[in-house]
Amino acid sequence: MLLEKIETLLQEVGSLTAKNADEVEQLRLKYLSKKGEINALMADFRNVAADQKKNIGIKINELKQAATDKINSLRECLTQVETQTDDLDLTRTAYPIPLGARHPLTIVKNEIIDIFQRMGFVLADGPEIDNDKHVFTMLNFAADHPARDMQDTFFIEQSNPDDVTKNILLRSHTSGDQSHFMETHKPPFRILCPGRVYRNEAISARAHCFFHQVEGLYVDKNVSFTDLKQVLLTFAREMFGPETKIRLRPSYFPFTEPSAEMDISCHICGGEGCGFCKHTGWVEILGCGMVDPNVLEACGIDSNEYTGYAFGMGVERITNLKYRVSDLRMFSENDTRFLNEFVSAH
Ligand SMILES: [Zn+2]
Repeated sequence: MLLEKIETLLQEVGSLTAKNADEVEQLRLKYLSKKGEINALMADFRNVAADQKKNIGIKINELKQAATDKINSLRECLTQVETQTDDLDLTRTAYPIPLGARHPLTIVKNEIIDIFQRMGFVLADGPEIDNDKHVFTMLNFAADHPARDMQDTFFIEQSNPDDVTKNILLRSHTSGDQSHFMETHKPPFRILCPGRVYRNEAISARAHCFFHQVEGLYVDKNVSFTDLKQVLLTFAREMFGPETKIRLRPSYFPFTEPSAEMDISCHICGGEGCGFCKHTGWVEILGCGMVDPNVLEACGIDSNEYTGYAFGMGVERITNLKYRVSDLRMFSENDTRFLNEFVSAH
């Protein structure tokens, strides 16, 4: 009789189900509690004949173990379901989550930095909000230079109407980094100044009120224009390919003398002439020159002992040449359709 009851209970236990934690608890009370079915068997067990005690004892233990295992596994299943339900967020983006891409200006800026770093240039930084002294005066801008006009530069504060050098402004070029650096360092040095600059321009496809520059400066004894030309040729060939040619056209900047604009042979048509280079075979990429002795002196460097060269380029300009982005505004519109075009670029 007892053995039959145990067998029935074993089958019952094997097919137990529960929909929630309460039901699991009910099952535990039914089978495993002090007043549960299995304990009740113990009362009958006392009356079992001595020669059968061992056998039936084993069966009862088997039943107890089976009930414990079953109830534990029911509890575990319910916990898992509950956890999964908690995590289920139908608004969440499906896997795989897209990794995005570097901004094209960052890609090109990093490439420019990388090329010049291999030639011994180190990075130097400066403030985006600066004073007139470092952005203009020390760089040999005359007091009435048009760059100081409200039309070109964003002025923040005019602390002394009689002294323009005290004006606080948003830097209009990263050359200010160079005057900060020259003021506090002794030559020789070879620095690269990447950064954002601001100009009071109407926003259009070809102009923006902010853009990015990388400027370079090398000051040492006996630095010559030949050194400058060779460094820029190396840069152009690294950036646009080994067949690239350069040409320098005389120009004017307040902080360099002599000054030049540099063109590279059009990398689209190879110098043959095409719509991109306006059929000239050349495209302009940067400005450069020998540092004006007045600048060296203003920064506390003896211009009889030292000479230097400087160059500066717009990151947007180089990016346009490399990737043919026709509208400057696309760089700052955060349109992911545009930015995703650069996923495969580095
Ligand atoms: Zn061309």
